[in-house]
Amino acid sequence: MQGSDFGGRLGAVATRARAAGVDAVLVTPGPDLQYLVGYEAVPLERLTCLVIPADDVPFLVVPRLELLAAQASPVSALGLALHPWTEGEDPYALVARHLRAAATVAVDDHMWASKVLSLRDAMPGVHQVLAGPTIADLRMRKDPTEVDALLRAGAAIDRVHAQVPGLLDAGRTEREVGADIAAAILDAGHVRVDFVIVASGPNGASPHHEVSDRIIENGDVIVVDIGGTMPDGYRSDCTRTYVVGEPPAGFAEAFAVLVEAQAAAVAHAAPGVSCESVDASARDILTSGGLGEHFIHRTGHGIGLETHEEPYIVAGNRLTLEPGMAFSIEPGFYVEGRYGARIEDIVITSADGLMVANNQPRELVVAS
Ligand code: ZN
Ligand code: ZN
Ligand code: ZN
Repeated sequence: MQGSDFGGRLGAVATRARAAGVDAVLVTPGPDLQYLVGYEAVPLERLTCLVIPADDVPFLVVPRLELLAAQASPVSALGLALHPWTEGEDPYALVARHLRAAATVAVDDHMWASKVLSLRDAMPGVHQVLAGPTIADLRMRKDPTEVDALLRAGAAIDRVHAQVPGLLDAGRTEREVGADIAAAILDAGHVRVDFVIVASGPNGASPHHEVSDRIIENGDVIVVDIGGTMPDGYRSDCTRTYVVGEPPAGFAEAFAVLVEAQAAAVAHAAPGVSCESVDASARDILTSGGLGEHFIHRTGHGIGLETHEEPYIVAGNRLTLEPGMAFSIEPGFYVEGRYGARIEDIVITSADGLMVANNQPRELVVAS
């Protein structure tokens, strides 16, 4: 993304690798590669691998046929050395030749098992560890460019939710509504639809239900959780709960507790508090309201170049929030055979407290 400090990020990875006793960090196509050098390569069977030695300059091993694509990415402006390999050559041996002195290498969390094992074969005796903790440590602290990108993504998905009440009619299937929502996600400025959940009636009890051929009925509660990727790679993710006609008996009261729980967690989240305390602030209210056993997932997840990344807002995560951390606050309740409900906003901690990226009404919205 324009304005990203790729050089600074590469330097930070090398520094952290050194501190961790890792001789080189190896990154194949995926969000880590995109974050570190801005190269959006598609993960394929041929090896593309960014090598970040702890004590030397980074370089990119790239298939000859991908050379032009690599050169067109920010990799060139970074002055990164490119090591192309041709069909028939062994790219793993090429990596190994450059890392003769290495005792420990870190591989990125998204690397295919086939590549991890091929690297192991090419460098027998070299200890492999995961690069995840090192890279996540950087990725979860968003710089101002990333914060802006996430706020833009939030505004884009808000424009989609604004249209949802008009799409939810009794007699339409979840799939039909989902197709309209997917088109609206692209219209709103995303380049990719990542997921569309239209969970009507009993389907709402499954938090990750996507769409089905179920026909929406009058009286259905409908959980709509949607997200996409913006041109700069940053993601949106937002849930609102809708109703067609009158909700089932007892639902409105339960939903009022959820609104309160979600607002309490948003009010609590700020630099200096722990991730697990944000989870507890929502969970305590749902538990007091008799809904604790129906809140079957963590309160949230980090977001950035991936929809789910660190920090996770979950019991046991003692990590203290710092300015620039972006994550969802999405408590819900799920009652099998009946309905589900969830309210989800992306929030970003800042020096002054919290920015909320999603701002459509959070109360139960009646479809029109
Ligand atoms: Zn989820
Ligand atoms: Zn989410
Ligand atoms: Zn979501």
